Amino acid sequence: MAHTFARRLTAILFPERCVCCGCILPPLVDICAVCAPDVPRIEVPVCRRCGAMIDDCDCRAGQRYWTGLVAPFYYYGPMRNTLLRMKDEEDSQRMRFFARETARAVEREFSGVRFDAVVFVPSSKTSRRARGFEPVRRLAVALSKELSLPVWNVLYKQRETPAQKTLSAAERLTNLTGAFALKKNVDVRERTLLLVDDTVTTGSTLSECAHTLRLAGATAVYAAAACRNPPRRYKEENETNENVEKNKSDRKQSTGRMGRKSAVR
Ligand SMILES: [Zn+2]
Ligand SMILES: [Zn+2]
Repeated sequence: MAHTFARRLTAILFPERCVCCGCILPPLVDICAVCAPDVPRIEVPVCRRCGAMIDDCDCRAGQRYWTGLVAPFYYYGPMRNTLLRMKDEEDSQRMRFFARETARAVEREFSGVRFDAVVFVPSSKTSRRARGFEPVRRLAVALSKELSLPVWNVLYKQRETPAQKTLSAAERLTNLTGAFALKKNVDVRERTLLLVDDTVTTGSTLSECAHTLRLAGATAVYAAAACRNPPRRYKEENETNENVEKNKSDRKQSTGRMGRKSAVR
């Protein structure tokens, strides 16, 4: 009872906010009713290999070194903004939210797997300095608490690489080769690991980290991220929306030229 009281008091003093729009919410709710329908949640059944919904599976997209991948959301719409804000504003509520949602997805899809530890994709020195903290590392720590697993800091980025989004598809394939390495005096041999990143876009970063861990002797490397790249249908939807908007503005312009009469007709 004291616990419930304390929780309610905390909720009054520090109310939870919608992780998408920031409006104030009752305790234990993360997303408001207005934002909820637009949240691109990855619903079951999902493909455990590429982390997309079964109908969106893009496993054929290339060689991957992870054993399986899971994410609670597509990196799209409100979740894209929410994740960016988590990273830019060092927001602990959004961090906990993504950790909880990711943990739920891991428990659901990889329930039979016995993980030894959570590991994470390291950030480069430059981005660590620029941001002042490592969002992925924090997410991994929060996720490890949810899953009652230790978190191991085993990887480092041994050379700076241009951001994947600035490169062509062909350049992306080789950009990260050999970029990550295992820290000295760590041993991942015969371990089953859960590798964490905040987003999966091309999948190259996670795959390269998983490769490094496998080469170091890890038995299996499963991957988890807060958001995964959206399937093609989202892009098409986006284009359709843009066309609708364009048609709307075209109509407005032509109505303007033709005058009120034609607009009424
Ligand atoms: Zn909202
Ligand atoms: Zn798939």
